[in-house]
Amino acid sequence: MAKSFMFIKILHFFNNHKSNFINTFQLSETIPLINFSSTNIDLKIMFPYTESLRSKNMGTVLITGGAGFIGSHLSDRFLKEGWDVIVLDNLLTGSSNNISHLIGKEKFKFIKYDVTDYLFFKENIDLILHFACPASPFDYAQHPIHTMKVDSLGTLNTLGLAKNKKARYLFASTSEIYGSPEQHPQKEDYWGNVNPVGPRSVYDEAKRFSEAMCMAYFREHNIDIRIARIFNTYGTRMRLLDGRVIPTFIHQALKNQSITIFGDGSQTRSFCFVDDMVEGLYNFATKDGLNGEVVNLGNTEEHSIKFLAEEIIKLTDSSSDIINHDLPEDDPPVRQPDILKANRLLGYSPEISLSDGLKKIIPWFKERKDG
Ligand code: NAD
Ligand code: UDP
Repeated sequence: MAKSFMFIKILHFFNNHKSNFINTFQLSETIPLINFSSTNIDLKIMFPYTESLRSKNMGTVLITGGAGFIGSHLSDRFLKEGWDVIVLDNLLTGSSNNISHLIGKEKFKFIKYDVTDYLFFKENIDLILHFACPASPFDYAQHPIHTMKVDSLGTLNTLGLAKNKKARYLFASTSEIYGSPEQHPQKEDYWGNVNPVGPRSVYDEAKRFSEAMCMAYFREHNIDIRIARIFNTYGTRMRLLDGRVIPTFIHQALKNQSITIFGDGSQTRSFCFVDDMVEGLYNFATKDGLNGEVVNLGNTEEHSIKFLAEEIIKLTDSSSDIINHDLPEDDPPVRQPDILKANRLLGYSPEISLSDGLKKIIPWFKERKDG
């Protein structure tokens, strides 16, 4: 008797104050069943900030860093699939050239803005992809503080926006969170081995902080977050001189300059062609039921940097020689993703070999080698 009286009183209270609750708690469209057997009512549990019942496989996607290398390829893919795309980028390491073909399209909008500043959007946003961040070791050594800000303040701002808009959220994490790995290949449940104060730490630790922040928003606010740990990816639209190994070696080979191997070249990387990466990212972002998942994405084909140099010399028919420079501090000796989880959840299976991928992009770099 007392319980049903209490039920009616609470129902009246909600009906009379519904609009206030919508503002305060951002009521989800579907109100979950309320268990009144307890008088300790937790409003956060009753009215979670977001609910994931609404499918997010079409609508408006916000891509931070969308004028960068991967972000611009993602923009192409989402537009092709019929999404409205908003790119937010301050052009620190990206370029408007990467998205110039999209400017003027009805479903595309570009905002030149720093994601570490306060974000406000009038329009609905269904999906946020946080890709803004210098990604080349050369770039993040040039911008160490900015790198830490974009993957702390920028992550906080975009997660806050996701909460406000009830949007799904995908974070562009990295294989660098595994640091100098003691486990090979690297699985998602490996916690990593990162030097917290070395020159690469600004990137590695900011990414690790962002992952923790994503999980906090997932646990506390029930935001539908996904963390993609991206392994070395290459393709067109990388800056010719961004310092990463593939554009650097191709550029040097096309100009018949010495190829600069750091260390003895025995360190390994597993390189993923950008189309294979975009396929994995698109599916991970749009498939329902993957809330809170952490997934490695990359190609498992592992090669030494020496092999890469020789392959690029061969494919460009170059007369370049190879010279050795000092190995940068904390340069990981090996890296290869374990992608069993991505395969199980997404059917992910990269198709393009390193040799085929290089053949696809060399003409693009050739056209720009004197630019
Ligand atoms: P990129 O440098 O080409 O793209 C990053 C973009 O972010 C650039 O367009 C840059 O202008 C923008 N940006 C930087 N700071 C910003 C800020 N404060 N506000 C708004 N925009 C800002 O790099 P990428 O290779 O395309 O990497 C994209 C994302 O993927 C990054 O988060 C990176 O850490 C991650 N990732 C990339 C790789 C890879 O191999 N390419 C591997 C692991 C992770
Ligand atoms: N590297 C190299 N010469 C270069 C640039 C890079 O030998 O001119 C090496 C670098 O030391 C690393 C690997 O290539 O071992 C990959 O470097 P990159 O900057 O592309 O990415 P990382 O995987 O280190 O983040």
